[in-house]
Amino acid sequence: MMNYTDDTVFSINEGVNLLSNAVSPVVCTGAGMSADSGVRTFRGEDGFWKEYRAEDLATPQALHADPELVWEWYKERLLHYDTIEPHAGFYALQRLQENRGSLPVITQNVDGLHQKAGLSDVIELHGSLATASCLSKCGASAKELTEKLVKEIPPYCSCGAVLRPDVVLFNEPLPQNEIERAFTLAEDCDLMLVIGTSMLVHPAAQIPVVALKGGAVVIEINPEKTMLSDYPGVTFIEGRAAEVLPALIEKTLSQ
Ligand code: NAD
Repeated sequence: MMNYTDDTVFSINEGVNLLSNAVSPVVCTGAGMSADSGVRTFRGEDGFWKEYRAEDLATPQALHADPELVWEWYKERLLHYDTIEPHAGFYALQRLQENRGSLPVITQNVDGLHQKAGLSDVIELHGSLATASCLSKCGASAKELTEKLVKEIPPYCSCGAVLRPDVVLFNEPLPQNEIERAFTLAEDCDLMLVIGTSMLVHPAAQIPVVALKGGAVVIEINPEKTMLSDYPGVTFIEGRAAEVLPALIEKTLSQ
């Protein structure tokens, strides 16, 4: 085990006991899960992009008013995602999924890193930056969002309308099937592993709370405490996803 404080070692051991006994575990991840792969979080120390706030920039209104500016932000993220790799924590989750046969992963992330690490059954609450579709909804199917497609921005559909990235913009509703499945999983699971979310973006932040109310235990991994950390039924492990997840999962699987 790395150089952890006594408190962290104690909570990892507690997490190992909980995870070993879990029958229907579910994972719930936020931007902090990708931080150790080099993806910036929105509310971490890295802060925001240029002089804009993501909440002002990534909106349907901004996309209509200034598609080039909005696409500049998504182009930068897309090109960055192409260069990054999943860290050891993603592969630890993949081994746990393989070992259990089933391990649904609910994520707020749009970067595709879970899938890149070989995880399946990933429920993308905020969409994905893997594809783009027609803003005027001409019926053209989603196009794969490649570097070539964003060479010139904004990219256009063959019908002449601007394309939009298939991510949920601020002020847009979450995809119905995904949000329903996430809440059903939260109600039915007996353990939820919550990694790298500030618990500030709703309705995603309600998912771990629903799991707790349904009688599940929660293991939370984050370098900083959130509003979830001191809830009864939560084991908070202070630390980074790339370090804590391999330690927690390897020890669980070796038991
Ligand atoms: P957030 O940016 O609000 O909070 C990030 C959380 O991760 C913080 O609590 C922080 O302490 C924690 N964290 C930082 N480094 C960590 C590490 N190494 N290991 C574990 N935890 C770490 O993230 P959010 O709650 O997911 O909400 C942000 C919103 O922005 C979401 O809607 C998400 O869709 C979007 N977003 C996605 C990405 C991505 O796809 N990778 C990146 C940035 C933002």
